[in-house]
Amino acid sequence: MTGLTVGVDVGGSKVLAVLADAEGAVHAEARHATPPHEDAPGVVVADTVAGAIDDLSREAGRALDGLPVGVGLPGMLDRDGVLAVSPNLPSASGADMAAVLAARLGGRAVVLANDADAAAVAEHRLGAARGVDEFVLVTLGTGIGGGLVVDGRLLRGAHGYAGEIGHVVVDPSGPRCPCGRRGCWERYASGAGVARLAREAAVSGRLASLVAEVGDPEAVRGEDVTHAAAAGDREALAVLDEVGWWLALGLANLAAILDPGLFVLGGTWPGTSRVGSAGAWSTWWRQSSGRGPARSARRCSRRTRSGAPPRGSPRGGPRPGPRRARTRSRRRAPPTRPWRSRSGRCSRRALGGRRRRACTRRRCARS
Ligand SMILES: [Zn+2]
Repeated sequence: MTGLTVGVDVGGSKVLAVLADAEGAVHAEARHATPPHEDAPGVVVADTVAGAIDDLSREAGRALDGLPVGVGLPGMLDRDGVLAVSPNLPSASGADMAAVLAARLGGRAVVLANDADAAAVAEHRLGAARGVDEFVLVTLGTGIGGGLVVDGRLLRGAHGYAGEIGHVVVDPSGPRCPCGRRGCWERYASGAGVARLAREAAVSGRLASLVAEVGDPEAVRGEDVTHAAAAGDREALAVLDEVGWWLALGLANLAAILDPGLFVLGGTWPGTSRVGSAGAWSTWWRQSSGRGPARSARRCSRRTRSGAPPRGSPRGGPRPGPRRARTRSRRRAPPTRPWRSRSGRCSRRALGGRRRRACTRRRCARS
């Protein structure tokens, strides 16, 4: 084994440490739960990272003292290692993580990166984006992270904050996001988004069989919906189709801005995502079809093996050729969604013509 390094992924729910070699092979791993909020930002997170590395050393059966450590953190990490804002890791939000981790990990060489940026570099060098110099990595977890690779290089931005795609606003009148804005993309298409849309559907009277099983509409969780969808529950599938629509909306926006040759989708929604990802794939086909050159999407090389492309698409992900994609777009109308603005006026009715006719779908006409 040569070129061994320690990699630590700090997420909203877990801290995962791995011992990996230069080819990306993982030789040992250890995980801890992410600590709750605390008064001294970053300190408990650093303790948890150190604990995970100690467990990793025991798992690997060797000392790891001399090995470099790479730490991926969720949120806006600036070029000096300060985690300026981290909605999904409030216990470290605002902390100078470079200083805190250096103090906690002693004389180790520590490199910090935004977690999605680190994933994008890994996919470019070792994974699904090998040989592709223009691509976007999208991580679906508690929130949504992004890594943007342009001309073969990671796009970091003036301060290091580029790629916070989960906080692009897709509905200004939408639900409040922990970042302080309303209607961020990750309020709809992340694990937290699945949970929120599932609960809203249950409270509004949908998901009747699932509510009967759980007993309380407020208690319906995202994983309940994904499990019910996997069992063929039509209403649960409709909720995941709605989530997939929001996911595809964000991808289409990114395509308009960056014109990537490839999207790499990583992470999982609650309850794993075979059904959810299939819904997202098919919706992505519909949304991206017939608009400019064909683009492709692949799943992250390691974390999303359970994902499946839609029925009929080639193995390894769809290649939306314009002719086929347009055919799909005609055949299936998009799922119903809230077209009404905050004022209550339907934005599509105001447009008239074809769009007005398109707005007579059941939910919109009823609402
Ligand atoms: Zn946000």
